[in-house]
Amino acid sequence: MSLPQLAPETRNLIDGELSAAESDKTFDNLNPANGKVLGTCADGSRDDMLRAVSSARRAFDESDWSRDHAFRGKCIRQLYEGMLEEKEQLRAIVVHEAGAPISLGAFMHVDGPIEMMTYWADLAASYPYERRLEDIPFLGRQHGRILRREAAGVVGAITPWNVPLYLNIAKIGPALASGCTMVLKPAPDTPWSATHVGRIAKERTDIPAGVLNVVASSDHLLGEILSSDPRIDVVTFTGSTATGRRIMASAAPTLKKVFLELGGKSANILLDDADFEAVLPMAAMTCVHAGQGCAITTRLLIPRSRYDEALGILKTAFEKWNYGDPTNPANLQGPQISPLQQERVLAYMEKGKQEGARCLVGGGRPNGKLGEQGCYVEPTLFVDVDPDSTIAQEEIFGPVLCVIPYEDDDDAIRIANHSQYGLSGAIQTKDVGRGLAIARRIRTGTISVAGAQWFHVDTPFGGYKQSGVGRENGVQGFEEYLETKIMAVPPGS
Ligand code: NAD
Repeated sequence: MSLPQLAPETRNLIDGELSAAESDKTFDNLNPANGKVLGTCADGSRDDMLRAVSSARRAFDESDWSRDHAFRGKCIRQLYEGMLEEKEQLRAIVVHEAGAPISLGAFMHVDGPIEMMTYWADLAASYPYERRLEDIPFLGRQHGRILRREAAGVVGAITPWNVPLYLNIAKIGPALASGCTMVLKPAPDTPWSATHVGRIAKERTDIPAGVLNVVASSDHLLGEILSSDPRIDVVTFTGSTATGRRIMASAAPTLKKVFLELGGKSANILLDDADFEAVLPMAAMTCVHAGQGCAITTRLLIPRSRYDEALGILKTAFEKWNYGDPTNPANLQGPQISPLQQERVLAYMEKGKQEGARCLVGGGRPNGKLGEQGCYVEPTLFVDVDPDSTIAQEEIFGPVLCVIPYEDDDDAIRIANHSQYGLSGAIQTKDVGRGLAIARRIRTGTISVAGAQWFHVDTPFGGYKQSGVGRENGVQGFEEYLETKIMAVPPGS
């Protein structure tokens, strides 16, 4: 699989124009696989962001965008077709700037997300925005009502770097489909996965000026304009729980709608009846994309009765795991996104050892070339992990699996729920009924039973507890961008 030469859009999209930063400043975009500068991006300033917010506000207040459902459907389909045309360029961007393994492109990083646009295009045009409620008698009078769902207004969307194209599309798709206008602020580590979509929107679609704005910046705090500015009606954020708290606090004075897709520490429960030889090697998938996925199951719960047998299989799987250059299709694990993240993950590994977990595989920086040139860390298997310890409780966002033994099903459920997070999870069993009974008792937003897959654009995704507020994807995700209006009308009219 070969990638085209990188030719990314490096300018922001503000009020329908591709623009350098008003200060003319740029910032470097680094390749985490080798530490080299890939190129630069416009470094959006406070003034750029304020201009983008004004233009999104104006486009919402002064155009038909929010009311012309068919036109929106057409524009989103054009965006889909434009992204399809430029799919290989988008793939090159994601592989190089996010260090995403090329072989993962098909599912999460490129092909899958682009395909999702067709769902949003169809929903924009087909959603039942208005319906007459049945007339009802109340205290001797008949009441007639129309229920209307309409776009909530201007959306501020803030995204992280780990699956950048998907996460940008997961905001752009429903926000535009619902009739909102928006300003997207991507993470500084992966700006082109947003600015390039901005160019496709500008050059290949009829999306009116101001409806979609993209403001990349080296300054994380530019996102606070989106959470605090009174002209923004909805903030949608994907990122860490710590930043999610700050965003909620800064949105409070203007009481805007806030929905948050945050971190996770999901449990994978292996039941004693599972086919260990078939299921356990899959647990090495914790290291996929260097463990930089919010819904990865990073705690593996194993029945004490079959613990030693399980560790043997796991150790072999981790030792055989391929990692390194993300452009090599054999590798499912590339680098961490940045030296900062690499150091964070290494610090967690040290903490795990200090707190008494046994490191069976990995546990540091790879020796030799791989470690020196890029932000790599070793695929790492910790066993005998105390469920209260730091590595069992905090999100590491690295290729680190924490194995915890349990006594019986109730104990497994207790340990799985012993977390501030509740984003995802899995139950490995041959008995779907038993797996479902346990799944019903886990406090989490998504859970897989007996190896089944939950991820799809029509499936609401999000977290319990401190993993988030609200849902992304599906009709429920779309409705996060809608307000509800009741219009009373004479009965029988
Ligand atoms: P982060 O919270 O550091 O940054 C996310 C985004 O917020 C970036 O665009 C950043 O510039 C911006 N930001 C930072 N400080 C801000 C502030 N004070 N106000 C407004 N915006 C601000 O997260 P990250 O390190 O980029 O991403 C990793 C995190 O994202 C992990 O915790 C992961 O679990 C989470 N994540 C969650 C999901 C989900 O759907 N639940 C999906 C992917 C990633």
